Amino acid sequence: MLPASTSSLLADRLHGLGESQTLAMTVRARALRAQGFPIINLSLGEPDFPTAPHIREAAKQAIDEGNSWYTPVAGTLELRQAIADKLRRENNISWNPENILVSTGAKQALANVILALVNPGDEVLIFAPYWLTYHELVQLAGGVPVLLEGSYANQLKATAADLSDAITPRTKLVVYSSPCNPTGAIFSREELTQMARVVARHPRVLVVADEIYEHIRFQEEYFSMASLDFVREQVITVNGFSKGYAMTGWRVGYLAAARWIVEACNAVQGQVTSGPCAISQKAAVAALTGTQEPVRAMQEVYRRRRDLVMELLGAIPHLPVDEPAGAFFLLPDVSYYLGREVSGQRLATAQDLCAWLLEEAHVALVTGAPFGAPTCIRLSYATSEENLRQALPRLRTTLAALVGHPQE
Ligand code: PMP
Repeated sequence: MLPASTSSLLADRLHGLGESQTLAMTVRARALRAQGFPIINLSLGEPDFPTAPHIREAAKQAIDEGNSWYTPVAGTLELRQAIADKLRRENNISWNPENILVSTGAKQALANVILALVNPGDEVLIFAPYWLTYHELVQLAGGVPVLLEGSYANQLKATAADLSDAITPRTKLVVYSSPCNPTGAIFSREELTQMARVVARHPRVLVVADEIYEHIRFQEEYFSMASLDFVREQVITVNGFSKGYAMTGWRVGYLAAARWIVEACNAVQGQVTSGPCAISQKAAVAALTGTQEPVRAMQEVYRRRRDLVMELLGAIPHLPVDEPAGAFFLLPDVSYYLGREVSGQRLATAQDLCAWLLEEAHVALVTGAPFGAPTCIRLSYATSEENLRQALPRLRTTLAALVGHPQE
């Protein structure tokens, strides 16, 4: 018979792993919807578009042509070549197919890197606010996540000077996303060049540049740190198909890096999963080599939604928020609304506020806490304009009631 507390059977490495604070919200949102409440979900990190027809066709063809075999662990040469071409064309990064490892989502690429490089006790500098998985993966590897907090004056982006101050002899990796999940901020060429100069002064420090939201941005300019030759060998570029090509369920991502890093990650992936789904890899080739029109069309829709949400949020007082330059998230600061009593209950944290907004406004959001922004909430606009037009006024009315302001 199993002991009463099965947690004592779990591996020690799981002890530090954070419990999903958003899970309880999802469960509650589902329960309320089942009871007939008109719940609007603004908590998802997933495009609400279907994958483009030419990509779906490529997958069907791949099935009919019998692509039912294991591919090389690193991915097919065809896909790695298409990725190398894309990196050269769009990002000015010169790597060959041998410098590329295709994975089951960008998430696996990140897991490969962290498991391959981080020893217990190694410090990993994470630009905060951050995508929560970075933090959890570092903990799984026994590493020490060290947060580099950005200031409001700089769209919550930490600077090269912050980075320089934080590097110690134990620093192994630096991780950032641009556009950032959860703020939507993008690092400029200038900012990344300054950061790269700092990194280049520390040849044992490596950088993970997570560029998964690259194609969801509202400005022409986009810069990749690995395009700077003087630091290229130290930068691991992570990207994938989930966001820009609306292919979350296909599970294809990749990393591009120096050969020794790719080989180490290949060794990890070779024991954990092997190469990603053969059909999905064919679809990914079609995504990169086919028309980019659907990507541009989705960008336009996200831009319109971003503008709409900024406008609607502008009608809610005391909710400071930066205009995002990319991705599909906003991170308003809800400090003003915290610590208030309602129906005998104190809304002490952003998590309490989210739970209350779900009950009262029927809008599902997530607390910023697991993203390293405890006084914020994350709002996703990967949903229809109609939903946004309904949800934001509901938030406005409910927050106004919370602080006792009359509604105009
Ligand atoms: N990086 C960031 C910043 C993300 O938000 C996500 C998905 N939420 C990923 C990586 C992983 O993407 P996937 O595994 O679907 O390719």
